[in-house]
Amino acid sequence: MERVHNFNAGPAVLPEEVLLEAQADLFNYKGMGLSVMEMSHRSKEYQAIIDETYAAVKRIYGLGDDWEVLFLQGGASLQFLMVPMSFIPEGKTANYINTGVWSKKAISEAKKLGKPVHVAATSEDQNFGYIPKTWTLSENPAYLHITTNNTIFGTEWKIDPTIPEGVPLIADMSSNFMSKPIDVQKYSMIYAGAQKNVGPSGCVVVLIKKDFLATGAANLPSMLDYQIHAKNGSMYNTPPTFTIYLIGLVLKWIEAYGGLPKVEQNNLAKADYIYKAIDASDGFYKGTVAVEDRSLMNITFRLPSEELENLFISEAKKQGMIGLKGHRDVGGCRASTYNSLPLIAAHTLAEFMKSFKEQHA
Ligand SMILES: *Cc1c(COP(=O)(O)O)cnc(C)c1O
Repeated sequence: MERVHNFNAGPAVLPEEVLLEAQADLFNYKGMGLSVMEMSHRSKEYQAIIDETYAAVKRIYGLGDDWEVLFLQGGASLQFLMVPMSFIPEGKTANYINTGVWSKKAISEAKKLGKPVHVAATSEDQNFGYIPKTWTLSENPAYLHITTNNTIFGTEWKIDPTIPEGVPLIADMSSNFMSKPIDVQKYSMIYAGAQKNVGPSGCVVVLIKKDFLATGAANLPSMLDYQIHAKNGSMYNTPPTFTIYLIGLVLKWIEAYGGLPKVEQNNLAKADYIYKAIDASDGFYKGTVAVEDRSLMNITFRLPSEELENLFISEAKKQGMIGLKGHRDVGGCRASTYNSLPLIAAHTLAEFMKSFKEQHA
């Protein structure tokens, strides 16, 4: 059977090379007579796999020994809780920029802890169709938290924001993790659910500066304590071993591809095909966000009517393109064009958009 062009928002497409390599090794990993799934996480074979995956994260982002990398469970959603639990000391206020559903969830978890939370800027006034360009921090900020790519609304931060010296910057990068070079040193912490850009679900990748990690609250429940996870090399309990192995394969694929500059080039080319099809459609397709804030990862657009949107999605499916239905909060269509989506898929969609418009405008 042919593989589809997969525009799912997450879990999402993985590189074919990675799937084939995992398939070849699934039954008998490197001649060891067992699958990675069946290995003890305490074995030296598995230790080699996880160590290589840590090393690849560090190489790709150019992280030195002053950074800790963790592979945790509970998804990005548990980070919404763990971050404020650890990093709002007495007398300080957590600051958030609200750019959509995921930011709101992060804010809501912090508030549930009963700690002081300040929303430094929001784009809710225009249904999250843009990224705020200015923000006002509270007194004594504990940190500023941003969502660098808004998976549902289709906006993306194009810059790594500069904030006052001494204020830690924390980013939920779930949907644009490793999709382009960033100024990683501006951040104190970055986290990302693997299932958008770097693997299957079941693991959140956390990058955290060691000096920031050391400021975390003491005496937290063990599973919610970054320092315990760090001390135990993310093996305080059984980690998602197979997911981490697959992340390792995806990272190897990214490095072989040429690293973040090449990945970004490919992501720009894919997004360009689709945004051009929107912009050249005489208003048949309408982007839902400010042009300067358009995401390279999640491209959101509307058609003239819901009937046409449904027809568009079902016709696209007949031609082997799946996952194009927009999130219910925005409606319309969404094409997710993560790292692993091949250029040909974006090109095929753009050509389909042109012919669909010719038939139905
Ligand atoms: C998907 C997503 C999440 C939620 O991730 P889970 O791993 O399901 O908890 C959080 N933030 C962003 C930006 C996302 O795209």
